[in-house]
Amino acid sequence: MKPPLLLHICCAPDEAWVVSTLKEAHSLHCFFCNPNISPESEYRLRLAEAQRVALHYNVPFTADSYDPVSWETAIAPVAATPEGGERCRRCYDLRLRRSARFCAEIGFPAFTTVMSISPHKRITMLNEAGEAAAAAFKVKYCPFDFKKKDGFKNSIALSRELGLYRQDYCGCRLSRDERDERLRLKAVQ
Ligand code: SF4
Repeated sequence: MKPPLLLHICCAPDEAWVVSTLKEAHSLHCFFCNPNISPESEYRLRLAEAQRVALHYNVPFTADSYDPVSWETAIAPVAATPEGGERCRRCYDLRLRRSARFCAEIGFPAFTTVMSISPHKRITMLNEAGEAAAAAFKVKYCPFDFKKKDGFKNSIALSRELGLYRQDYCGCRLSRDERDERLRLKAVQ
């Protein structure tokens, strides 16, 4: 029997690559937990694409409830920090704690997150959040680094092949504002 592993999913492109690489070795369950995503229409779009990937690979899929207030509350004291800073730490903490709780609820021994595939995510911060969440709910966190072995490049290629939507900002309203500012500066250069 393959060892069970809960996968925290942030978006379909990252999910597709990780599921395709782990599905032979693990009995996977995908968990979409992203109260950070704004606006809600973007959340619904990313959720629908993530569900499509799970269906494609025939992997069980669960979505957490959409609860943007929990994200706003968690990051409020550090909302002024830039992407990659303290607000992201709190965002990881929130999503991985919920994932660890769900992992324990369904009786899985271990979980991980597909977020490590992104070169924009700080792996140390991600792993610290995962370990703390795992300890709180008495499950194991598996600290994969999916960007290794060209993971990010391969995920782009696979998402093109599957015709998946690829977002151009991390997810929260602040990262969307940062994306808008980058585009504005580029336009005036
Ligand atoms: S930039 Fe990404 S990781 Fe950081 S707070 Fe926003 S959604 Fe979360």
